[in-house]
Amino acid sequence: MVDLLIKNGKVVLPDTTLDATLAVDGGKIVAIGSSEAMVKGEKVIDAKGMFVLPGGVDPHIHIAMPFMGVTSKDDFSKATKAASWGGTTTVISFATPQKGHTTIETVKSRKAQADGKVSIDYSLHPTITSLTPETVGQVKKLIDMGLPSFKLFLVYRKEGIMADDGILLKVFEEAKTHGGLVGCHAENVSMIEYLRDEALKKGNRSAIYHALTRPPITEAETVNRAIYLANYLKLPYYNFHLSILEGVEMFREARNRGQPMYAETCTHYLVNSEANLKGPDGINYICTPPLRSREHSEALWRGLADGAISLVSSDHCAFTREMKKLGEDSFDKVPNGMPGHEFRLPVLFSEGVGKGRISVNRFSEITSTNAAKIFGLYPKKGIIRLGSDADLVIIDPKLEKTITTEESFYDMDWYPCEGMKVKGWPVVTISKGEVLWENGEYYGKPGDGEFLRRSLSPELFQYPIA
Ligand SMILES: [Zn+2]
Repeated sequence: MVDLLIKNGKVVLPDTTLDATLAVDGGKIVAIGSSEAMVKGEKVIDAKGMFVLPGGVDPHIHIAMPFMGVTSKDDFSKATKAASWGGTTTVISFATPQKGHTTIETVKSRKAQADGKVSIDYSLHPTITSLTPETVGQVKKLIDMGLPSFKLFLVYRKEGIMADDGILLKVFEEAKTHGGLVGCHAENVSMIEYLRDEALKKGNRSAIYHALTRPPITEAETVNRAIYLANYLKLPYYNFHLSILEGVEMFREARNRGQPMYAETCTHYLVNSEANLKGPDGINYICTPPLRSREHSEALWRGLADGAISLVSSDHCAFTREMKKLGEDSFDKVPNGMPGHEFRLPVLFSEGVGKGRISVNRFSEITSTNAAKIFGLYPKKGIIRLGSDADLVIIDPKLEKTITTEESFYDMDWYPCEGMKVKGWPVVTISKGEVLWENGEYYGKPGDGEFLRRSLSPELFQYPIA
């Protein structure tokens, strides 16, 4: 007798999809095979006609993020419950120090906010924002604490969290010495500040100017610089939220040369566009890098299909309409970011698998496996394999629904993909063998999830592993 059997589903493995039954015991996957050959299960789920996939790993989600005068409207309990509703079973959020605090202090306070509250497993990317012997000396300590991936903001000078080129170089050197992965928000701050000031001088304050003052060159230049520097130092590099076709080319070329360069894009760059910024709710769609024209989205889809882009994160940041209104009169005052991590899997399934842009196996890689591989969680997370955590999502490919604020139990008052018709929804989410969601009923609770100590694969440093 095992704890759980999932029968008759289409089990999605990296290179194939099997009609098989999964057996789960003690929180782990213990058998994959035909149902006749299985022992009995205490609980049995019939997944006939459905896909059984590794639970989503979202490596870029902002939870209760203080930024531009407000704090995004959620906490670890709410955000992880919402994640699991949408089929995500692991999230990586951020520890970004506010002025006067060190990164390690911030990691400790973020852990205190999360532990006992999260219902799925989680980790953090520490952010380095200043160059003092104290902050830089923390890189090794953080790696030893199981936090080997670092986020640097190469923008947001005025907001006080920017890393300049000196910090970038120093953190790269520390990462090289101690074995860390550097990831950047890559935009050229000086160009953007210049263009923004020019626009404001001319009285150009509407939402579309957010995109017009951050044209593709402001991102392309900095992505190129980060890749160049990483390659020069013989280090891997991770690019958060890539939004431009020029960047897709850069990653495709670097990876074809065998360089361990990794890019994520986000759901909204694939399904939204700068046209949203011209609409009546234009300010809501302000995020950075900005939404772009459809040709960029199409290039990102191609990059996902051919492997130039490694994965899709949500970059969830729950700013409500009320918070967005801070910038009603001027685009530069709008808190940057959009909610919606619970819709990442259904939207990508519907737009990607449903519309023939990617296979269901590739869907599994870009929503789960590759993030687990890059960030040191594999094969515990991100794959259906004997001995791996039984973090699973069952997707009904025929279930159709429209995204509305009521559809989610989350108390957001808008979503960037609101009104979108989506075919293919998670109907069961399982974390470490425990059913969290089944047909709309929630069985999870705060504290079910735990902090994940991560350690990077040595191969990550040698060639593209994901
Ligand atoms: Zn972000």
